[in-house]
Amino acid sequence: MSGRVLVAGAGVSGLTAAWDLMQAGVDVTLVEATDRTGGVIGTWDVDGYRFENGPAAVQGDALAFRSLVQDLGLESEIVRASADHRERHLYYKGSMKKLPRTFRDFFTSKLFTPRQKIRAMLEPWVRAGHPDREESVAEFFGRRVGRGVTMTWVDVIVSGVYAGNPNRLGIRSAFPELAEMEEKHGSIIKGMKYLERTRRRDSGRVGASPLWSLRGGLGVVTQKMVEDLGDRIQCNSSVRKVVRRPEGGLQIGLTSDGRDELVDADRLILAVNAATASILLAPTAPEAADLMFEVESSPLVVAQAGFDCGQLPGLRNGYGYLVPRCTRLRTLGWIFESHLFPERAPEGKVAMRGFLGGVLDPLAIDLPDDLMRHLLMGELALTLGQRKLPVPEVFRIVRWKNRLPQYNVGHLRRMDAVRRLLGAAMPEVVLAGNWIAGISVDACVKRGREAAREVLDAVPAV
Ligand SMILES: Cc1cc2nc3c(=O)[nH]c(=O)nc-3n(C[C@H](O)[C@H](O)[C@H](O)COP(=O)(O)OP(=O)(O)OC[C@H]3O[C@@H](n4cnc5c(N)ncnc54)[C@H](O)[C@@H]3O)c2cc1C
Repeated sequence: MSGRVLVAGAGVSGLTAAWDLMQAGVDVTLVEATDRTGGVIGTWDVDGYRFENGPAAVQGDALAFRSLVQDLGLESEIVRASADHRERHLYYKGSMKKLPRTFRDFFTSKLFTPRQKIRAMLEPWVRAGHPDREESVAEFFGRRVGRGVTMTWVDVIVSGVYAGNPNRLGIRSAFPELAEMEEKHGSIIKGMKYLERTRRRDSGRVGASPLWSLRGGLGVVTQKMVEDLGDRIQCNSSVRKVVRRPEGGLQIGLTSDGRDELVDADRLILAVNAATASILLAPTAPEAADLMFEVESSPLVVAQAGFDCGQLPGLRNGYGYLVPRCTRLRTLGWIFESHLFPERAPEGKVAMRGFLGGVLDPLAIDLPDDLMRHLLMGELALTLGQRKLPVPEVFRIVRWKNRLPQYNVGHLRRMDAVRRLLGAAMPEVVLAGNWIAGISVDACVKRGREAAREVLDAVPAV
């Protein structure tokens, strides 16, 4: 294979693209602006606890991620989350309530009034939305199951995945599988029942938890790619300019360890966030760049806390709990990570992660560490119903700015336009990253592999 390819951004998207290109024999260099690889994926091992900085698990089949894990020879490292802790809770109206997992749970749940339940039961008979107009997530659920259920239940699904605003997220952009259920089955209840039946038939894994990770955390996957790529990776090196050369190919301005340099490349895979891509491409592809700039991003704070169980008498079983925005608490929720993966905390201890911020509380990220800790511990005590403020043995705050893109109404249409406009103005640049075709780790791997394939199809073989 001839031609040099530069990949920018060593998160899972860029690493996957670069790793595939390396496997295909391409001369590839991966530049990363910071001194660490993996992007939001990373693991903190401390005093027998193991915490993830960003994603902690993938959900369901995650076919693209699974095939990458296989290709990297890491399949024996896969661990499934404990099926004993599948319950999720919601802190609502002053107490913890189980989030329904089955239809039976829903009808016996204390979360909803009888009137709300009857309204939701009518869902299979509600007419489909207009095919030409994308509804917001709040509109879609309001129409299908009623406003009451939407305000409690849907709000937490949205904060759990996007830390976003249900009135702005688009149903087809953010939750395409739900929009598809309406299109195919005329109802999300019917669609879910169909999905449940097919999963049971295909996998036979009734009762197994749909969440899985790797024994050493998801960072094992990015770390293996980093090792394989070796000195093809340059850290502390950021793309600051991309210019098309008149004779073909690209000239790319890099700032590496404080020094500016220019490098030539035949292709560039940009696996950076939307705002950065927009700034870099604005001089040559201004229309595409304008659309990229419209992609909103959510700030998120992750608090990693390890406790002796004696500090948390109010702790429950289960996966953790979410706090709907209508409670006016600032905590978005807590995940009890060592309930899911017991080896992540020593015996008699618990490893937990709390979340703050999101689109509806953008200033939380700027709170000083001490204040944030005080706030989180106070709200943890309140929600667990204990008077004593819990004191963690280990505690750390991780701040993620501009890392959670919001798939707002019209996002997919905007991305189609970006691809078309960029293809015409700068065909040598290929986009990857969590704002293109899905936010999950699985979607990022899938898009990273597609980006590598697009480059392989375009760069002529020797
Ligand atoms: C707290 C949190 C929890 C999550 N939980 C889950 C989960 O449980 N399951 C799941 O599936 N997904 C989860 N996600 C989503 C998923 O982890 C991310 O969408 C995905 O990892 C993003 O990967 P990426 O490579 O696209 O971007 P990033 O990881 O953001 O990487 C982009 C990289 O580009 C670099 N960069 C930026 N500008 C430049 C430049 N000019 N030049 C060179 N490099 C540059 C950055 O430094 C960064 O390293 C979570 C995300 C967060 C933040």
